[in-house]
Amino acid sequence: MSEPKIPFLDAIRRGDLRTAMSIVSCLGIEDATPDLVESVFSACQAGWRHPDCEMADHEVKHPDIAHVVLRSGLHSGAYYNCPMVLRNAALCMFMAKAIVHEMQASGINPCDFQWVAGSATSAIGLSFAVATLLGKNWHPLQKDPSDPKGKTQLWQKCAIPSGEVVLNVEELTTTCGTPEAVQAAIRQANPAVEFFGYTPVLIYRPADLAAPNRAGDSIILPVLKIDVPNYERDNCPYCEAGSEAITDPKKDWAKLIGAA
Ligand SMILES: [Zn+2]
Repeated sequence: MSEPKIPFLDAIRRGDLRTAMSIVSCLGIEDATPDLVESVFSACQAGWRHPDCEMADHEVKHPDIAHVVLRSGLHSGAYYNCPMVLRNAALCMFMAKAIVHEMQASGINPCDFQWVAGSATSAIGLSFAVATLLGKNWHPLQKDPSDPKGKTQLWQKCAIPSGEVVLNVEELTTTCGTPEAVQAAIRQANPAVEFFGYTPVLIYRPADLAAPNRAGDSIILPVLKIDVPNYERDNCPYCEAGSEAITDPKKDWAKLIGAA
């Protein structure tokens, strides 16, 4: 795919964030295409792929280049650092527009749900931005402080009226564990709640490429779907070839993308 010639991408690459954000704020939902989302991640240096990540034969020809351990524990040759993009409020709103663009392209009627929610803490801002664009109710989830792994979500201090429908929006999922945790938390606090039949996700990188795109009762609706194989540690061709496994890619990001 050739890079689109978009002025705000050039401004991002130059580090001229003020210009980039003033341009991106003017873009509409119709502009927020998956190709442009991919280009924003590229311009922000927030998407990384090992040169062998799409190998069909699982042969690693570049063992000198490290690979990553995903939050799910799976080993992989691709990583998308969503917080690097979403921490900029204008780009977060642009990504929300990309999600609404995808929903419109799929024929989803926003009148069919009343609430939008996303996981704490990674999808808090993104879900709020989607709720803002669609004029919906929104309430933040929280991480359960008693869960040392930080995976359990809590919904507190807000009752959803019986029969109202929640749209769950997420930034990235591999195993669908996050949307399932979100939906479990909301359902525990609101037993009569219903969930919309689709869960929009900015980046979906399925653990099993052949598995159905489902989170609980919802179908995953990705803006970008990353079809890159992931591996259990004991079955990882990168480890077997001697490639270093980076266990905290966000912390070692500069090293991973070759900037360190
Ligand atoms: Zn490995």
